Parts: sequence; structure tokens; C-alpha cells
Amino acid sequence: MNGRLPCCVPFCRRTTKAGRFSEWICGKHWPLVPPELRRLKRGTERAYAAANLQCEAIDLEAYECAKANGGGVHINIIERFGKAAHRRDRKRRQAARVWERCKRAAVARTAGIGGTI
Ligand SMILES: [Zn+2]
Repeated sequence: MNGRLPCCVPFCRRTTKAGRFSEWICGKHWPLVPPELRRLKRGTERAYAAANLQCEAIDLEAYECAKANGGGVHINIIERFGKAAHRRDRKRRQAARVWERCKRAAVARTAGIGGTI
């Protein structure tokens, strides 16, 4: 571990400071990803962040409920959390799939393959 994270595009020598991301596409290769895919990535990440916030809000509600009821949490809160957690998981997987498409697009366009993604 040298504290640097390399670009996802093979043979690209650019790196970024490690710790912020688990994977990264550099500023030279990111513009090769089609704009609609980059927009989709932003949208799915935003949806995931919103779903995550919702889970945190329900979790806090459950905590307050337990505090007020000697440890018991209303079944309705538990059910809502279950649904929210399921949604968060779905949004996380959607965002991960779009990121994979972004990587494939950057690699394909770097190699000059182009075509459909
Ligand atoms: Zn790169």
C-alpha cells in the first residue's frame, strides 16, 4: 500500500490519493464515458444516498422509540426499516452496475473500440 489508487483504465499511470474511493477513473479517462452514462451514475448515487438517509432516519426513530418504551420498538417501525433497507440495497446494486458500465465505457473508448456499452 503506497497510499495511491490507480485509474481503472489499464496502463493508465495516473493515480489519486487512496482512501476516498475503492475504484477511480482519472480526469483524462472520465470524459470518455458518455455523458448520459455519467448522468445516470450521478442519479443512481443520489438515489442510493437518499435511501441511506431514509434508513438512518428510521433507525433513529427506532432508537427513540426503544428509549421511550423500555427497549421495545413498534412493529410498524421495524417493517418500515425492512422495506427501506431493501430499497437501499437495490439502489446500491444499481449504482454499482452503472459504475461497472462507466468503467467498461472508459476502457473501451481508450482502446478505440467504441460501439455499444
Ligand atoms: Zn486514466
